[in-house]
Amino acid sequence: MKRIQGWGNIDTDYPVPEPAREYLSKAVGKPLKLPNIPVKELLAKIPPSTCPNHPLITADPEERLKHARGQSLNDWVDMFDGLIDTYPDGVAYPTSKDDVRTLIEFAEREHINLIPYGGGSSVTGHLTPPGEGPITISVDLARMNQLIDLNEENHEATFGAGVSGPQLEEQLRKHGYILGHFPQSWEYSTLGGWIVTRSVGQQSYHYGRIEPLFVSGHMETPSGPLDLPHVPKSAAGPDLRHMVLGSEARLGILTEATMRIRQLPEQEHFYAAFFPSFEIGVDAVRKIAQDELPLSMLRLSDPMETETTFQLSGEEKLVNLAKKGLKIFGQGDQPCMLIYGLTGNPANNRLADRQLAHFVRSYQGMMVKFYLGEAWVEKRFLTPYLRNTLWDLGYALDTLETAMPWSKLQETRNAVVQEIAHGLEADNEPVLVFSHISHVYTNGGSIYVTYLYRRAQDPHETLARWQNLKTAASQTIIDRGGTISHQHGVGIDHKPYLPIEKGALGTQMIRNMIKDVDPNNIMNQGKLIDLD
Ligand SMILES: Cc1cc2nc3c(=O)[nH]c(=O)nc-3n(C[C@H](O)[C@H](O)[C@H](O)COP(=O)(O)OP(=O)(O)OC[C@H]3O[C@@H](n4cnc5c(N)ncnc54)[C@H](O)[C@@H]3O)c2cc1C
Repeated sequence: MKRIQGWGNIDTDYPVPEPAREYLSKAVGKPLKLPNIPVKELLAKIPPSTCPNHPLITADPEERLKHARGQSLNDWVDMFDGLIDTYPDGVAYPTSKDDVRTLIEFAEREHINLIPYGGGSSVTGHLTPPGEGPITISVDLARMNQLIDLNEENHEATFGAGVSGPQLEEQLRKHGYILGHFPQSWEYSTLGGWIVTRSVGQQSYHYGRIEPLFVSGHMETPSGPLDLPHVPKSAAGPDLRHMVLGSEARLGILTEATMRIRQLPEQEHFYAAFFPSFEIGVDAVRKIAQDELPLSMLRLSDPMETETTFQLSGEEKLVNLAKKGLKIFGQGDQPCMLIYGLTGNPANNRLADRQLAHFVRSYQGMMVKFYLGEAWVEKRFLTPYLRNTLWDLGYALDTLETAMPWSKLQETRNAVVQEIAHGLEADNEPVLVFSHISHVYTNGGSIYVTYLYRRAQDPHETLARWQNLKTAASQTIIDRGGTISHQHGVGIDHKPYLPIEKGALGTQMIRNMIKDVDPNNIMNQGKLIDLD
């Protein structure tokens, strides 16, 4: 069962080992032990629903609470500290396109705001009902989760848009296929959510982002049903798929999507390599991407992330031994870990591995073929559970991301990390900040930053600290011409920066498209872009 407060399944935990607690305490200070508001108290505070009765909609308070927020830091403070002040008035679980159509027509008639709900893993405020706004209904697509069609000749599969990562891969695996889209939120995110937020999976280097995987689909919009053309490629004017991708529910509800699939790989391995500095590591990764080495993943951590990963592993003896070894083999005091993936047939994987080893050596690095790669893959979907444990210990953790051309990547990463590291000096609060590059292209890569600071006694202060850090980092990115999001989307948190990124005319074009398709503004009001 999914947690109502925090991330993931209630039966899964990721304890923080004792030495790691000391490490964190040294880095940002001893945390305060703070209480969380029990769910019972949250439920008691929910105001009565104002939604007119409808057979597809429930006003059950627990359902309303479960759909009230996503996973952004704001969402966490709302849910754990009881600051939550807006709720959907009802929740619907449609099982068909017709149900979705009925809900849209009802919303049009009653001036209701609809917020489609996939897995609820948004980290930028996509799911928050607007304050003092209209009646809001959360439309949970969880029951539209089936494989509708598998076309083995075309290597395509059509699914209900509410299918979650594990449900999707399980249904494909039975037939020998894989989509290969593995965001870290895979366990609790859905196909529809991935498409409308332009999600990126951990193995995007091999499988691609969600965009090239998305072939076609069906969307129910306030102006009627939209069937996207289903063709391998087309030069017939602007691509309608790109209006659905990143639309963040402002145009309608995606009910089905046809995806490009592949045969299951014969073999998959993950290994580690180290470089003596981040600068050298970035140069090596750039060259590997530009030479198009057939790997399935490249993830380069900076020295602080490498150290923190070591500390959180709980393997103190092994870590000390590894650090000594890395030093002896020329990796210095601040080694940077690269995790790479090999996915395909054994002969090609062997060849790619040999090519990679050559690059690593020529950039002063060293390969580590045991433990680290396997440990990473084992924990790839477990790591988000650390956020629960850290929160309970008294730490707030958040992440942000951007993408930059190679020519600006290192400078931007350094500037963002510096802004965050010093962002709470006025409050005398240290911040632990680290980063990695995890999606690489021939012309640039993504920068993913994680930061951790102490929760304050007053939750408004915890939020104010977050807002300071977020604003400073976002401004640093935008000033350098970076994107406000490489993978998490816009929602509420990135909305102020979208017009800067898209320009005046571009912003107007997006606005006009939304107004045209949704003239009565019933779809996910207040997200992505302001309409006036
Ligand atoms: C721990 C964690 C790790 C993450 N890691 C990654 C990562 O590696 N890569 C990445 O890209 N993102 C990541 N994210 C962000 C998040 O998982 C993605 O944005 C994801 O695509 C959201 O999918 P969802 O199904 O949970 O959508 P939701 O959070 O439910 O919704 C997000 C938005 O999509 C809309 N929506 C959902 N379904 C539909 C539909 N069928 N039709 C129309 N609109 C719809 C919602 O209304 C909302 O506006 C992570 C988040 C967390 C919490």
